[in-house]
Amino acid sequence: MENTISRSCPRLFIVIPCYNEEEVLPLTAPKFLGKINQLINSGMISSDSRILFVNDGSNDRTWDLITEMTQSDEHFLGMSLSRNRGHQNALLAGLMEARTICDATISIDCDGQDDINAMDEMVKAFSEGADIVYGVRSNRDSDTFFKRFTAESFYKLISAMGVETVFNSADYRLTSAVVLNAFADYKDVNLFLRGMFPLVGYKSTSVYYERHERLAGESHYPLSKMLKLAEDGITSLSVKPLRFVSFAGAFVMVLSLIMLLITTIRAVIVGVAAWIWVLCVLGLLSGLQLLCMGILAEYVGKIHQEVKAHPRYIVSKRSWKD
Ligand code: UDP
Ligand code: MG
Repeated sequence: MENTISRSCPRLFIVIPCYNEEEVLPLTAPKFLGKINQLINSGMISSDSRILFVNDGSNDRTWDLITEMTQSDEHFLGMSLSRNRGHQNALLAGLMEARTICDATISIDCDGQDDINAMDEMVKAFSEGADIVYGVRSNRDSDTFFKRFTAESFYKLISAMGVETVFNSADYRLTSAVVLNAFADYKDVNLFLRGMFPLVGYKSTSVYYERHERLAGESHYPLSKMLKLAEDGITSLSVKPLRFVSFAGAFVMVLSLIMLLITTIRAVIVGVAAWIWVLCVLGLLSGLQLLCMGILAEYVGKIHQEVKAHPRYIVSKRSWKD
């Protein structure tokens, strides 16, 4: 496969998931078009490179806008999922669509937050042999204190759990067709792409870029969805929380034995049973047991979803210039 991809003037697909983005698409689509034309004109990518929008079951005018764009310029392509499946699934759908017809893809959000000028460096790194080029945020100045704190804690937690990610990189990334073809064999239903791509291997590098505010519209990642993504990342790619359950069990058992000994001695010497103390400890232990059961249930739930192996997305429509 390696021999068949062109590194010097690759066919690039820019893959952009969109969910209810009617406000921001008219602002950012011309910028993406300008970027791809600039890369083509400078000879960095081939003239049949494309911008592929993935409509993730939007219920506003997003798909209408996408089809209009595909009719106005051949560089735009569109595909639409049968319903909203979430950012990770929509992105995967676009990457899988592109992998057999391109040499490399760059995934990027459609809201103008990620600096499109980092694409030049990504393409350059690809031409020099990198198969994955991670877009890494050079700083988090545009984030609120809360967002910065939670995001950075998340990266630290997930790496402590043994999940390999590139610190401060999200889903702005170049991936070669070689990597995508290998990635097609990963059948996970619960997706955490930024933790899965490092598993594939191949040569990787990073480029640094600044992330700005959204140009228009609203974020679709409220705290609840961010927590869900973080939880997915950990429970899909790490079994460390399960080990925690065993350690917690062993620790509590030893502690209980010591307490039993102390209570017995106390009862013999003082002659009073320390029942209030025992009650508190019992409450604590029940809490710990429930927590451990919750962790186990989380994994059982994941296994349930993975075993069913429902399709991760269904493509219902495609659009390109006739
Ligand atoms: N997105 C999607 N499906 C969803 C939610 C979001 O395809 O269910 C897209 C969205 O249109 C955008 C990208 O994923 O291009 C990132 O979403 P957003 O900008 O809302 O997240 P944030 O940048 O605030 O984390
Ligand atoms: Mg955004």
